[in-house]
Amino acid sequence: MAELEINDPFHGSRVIPSYTCAHCSDVVLMRPERTRQRTRCMKCMGYICEKKELCRVECTPIHKLARDHFEGPRARLVPAIMSGATTLEEAERIILGPDGQQARRS
Ligand SMILES: [Zn+2]
Ligand SMILES: [Zn+2]
Repeated sequence: MAELEINDPFHGSRVIPSYTCAHCSDVVLMRPERTRQRTRCMKCMGYICEKKELCRVECTPIHKLARDHFEGPRARLVPAIMSGATTLEEAERIILGPDGQQARRS
């Protein structure tokens, strides 16, 4: 596969294909003007969404983790992902709860 990046200024008629994030299972629309390769997880080799920090920093394939009954270190992020956390900071807040003051950076 070639890694070619073209910035196409024209937005004609479009059919928008989509894929499902291998981690959070969100549906991602693929803009046709984009030719850059999709972000892939180097661990599970699945295509992942790019809007969530959590999907990029950790391999958290929800469906696979569910089959493993959410065991293992990665599974601790799952409740946070399911509640809509997109960044590590949000995830820590959800995991630690309102008393997790030590996780705050400010
Ligand atoms: Zn995702
Ligand atoms: Zn992965």
